[in-house]
Amino acid sequence: MSFDFAARVERVEPSATLAISNKASELEAEGVDVVDLSVGEPDFPTPENIVAAGQEAMDAGHTGYTSSNGIPELRESIAAKLRDDGLDATSEEVIVTPGGKQALFETFQTLIDGVDEQGSSARGTSSRAGDEVVLLDPAWVSYEAMAKLSGGSLNRVDLAPYDFQLEPALDDLAAAVSDDTKLLVVNSPSNPTGAVYSDAALEGVRDLAVEHDITVISDEIYQQITYGVEPTSLGSLEGMSDRTITINGFSKAYSMTGWRLGYLHAPESLISQAAKLHSHSVSCAVNFVQHAGLEALENTDEAVVEMRDAFRERRDMLAELFAEHGVDVPVGDGAFYMMLPVADDSEARSASESASGDEPRADDQEWCAGAIEDAHVATVPGSAFGSPGYARISYAASEERLREAVDRLAEHDYI
Ligand code: PMP
Ligand code: GLU
Repeated sequence: MSFDFAARVERVEPSATLAISNKASELEAEGVDVVDLSVGEPDFPTPENIVAAGQEAMDAGHTGYTSSNGIPELRESIAAKLRDDGLDATSEEVIVTPGGKQALFETFQTLIDGVDEQGSSARGTSSRAGDEVVLLDPAWVSYEAMAKLSGGSLNRVDLAPYDFQLEPALDDLAAAVSDDTKLLVVNSPSNPTGAVYSDAALEGVRDLAVEHDITVISDEIYQQITYGVEPTSLGSLEGMSDRTITINGFSKAYSMTGWRLGYLHAPESLISQAAKLHSHSVSCAVNFVQHAGLEALENTDEAVVEMRDAFRERRDMLAELFAEHGVDVPVGDGAFYMMLPVADDSEARSASESASGDEPRADDQEWCAGAIEDAHVATVPGSAFGSPGYARISYAASEERLREAVDRLAEHDYI
């Protein structure tokens, strides 16, 4: 039989980051040595104290359901951390989720209506659009998918012409938003650019959000991975506390990607709505993982700093290696990504041409497909993030593998 799939799943593509990482794993299974710079995943083991806390919690029998929004100790510890960031947070305003992704998913589902929910058919030709979601491009792949899954309509503001910074793009953002805008997503430090937005940029966002009564998601999952700058938490700005949903998670800072632990913080009115989705979908985050998360928050500062310092050295080394090949890569002050200009696209053209000296490749998808096939270096096309002409590189890999990647790309004429 052929299934009649729901329109919502047909609207989206699989995650490009995970798809390419899967392709790299397939090649590896065939015996190919792939330098996988596709997925954003720290290459360090989870710090030992966190692993031990998880094991102890399992041994102590913390293996049943927890209260749906999370164990009280962890919610309190998260609220205390958010207070340190300048938010006026209580534990009742926190939901602990299996990964930051689930926290984002619940937020989109809680706030964004599509045309179907508004009375007309999502499959029909209704001209009425779903609630407007504004993204700052390049934007992490899953925001678009989550907006579409909830039936929202997308409005995208391009930061590529401004070296991926938000402050110079504030006029463009002001022109894009209106009283019809429901939700704006801000992700600083940014995946995929590494940019950390200035306070002036965040204040500009605040002014627009207040003027047009817009709710803002502040995805701060890379907050602890910054190099010489202190990122400001958007929800701490005056006027933002009642309109900001702060998202964070343990995957990146504590190298806990597979543990699946994250959270959202929002005013209680939103929490009580999102909690319904949470309880009917995941029930709760894994019990012993929540105990490990508590240990991460309370006792792991040193390991976080060590990993951060390593990422910084890798960023500098990689940018220098590309520069030696004539490629000028804009580097950000956070996360572990950079956008390599690779193709004949307006924003990237000059860098790309000076990089290869030859005809630049037609587009970033072709470049990335070729780079993995020929050079066995896996990267993600910028177009998956809304910015064609670039390849996103995750430098959460060892210096040796990063060198190897650059050598191979050069050898096969990709840079
Ligand atoms: N936000 C951003 C910007 C990310 O890059 C990721 C990485 N997957 C997430 C959220 C979610 O991460 P996780 O679900 O592993 O907490
Ligand atoms: N956020 C990471 C990335 O962008 C992990 C993969 C994913 O969830 O998209 O590569």
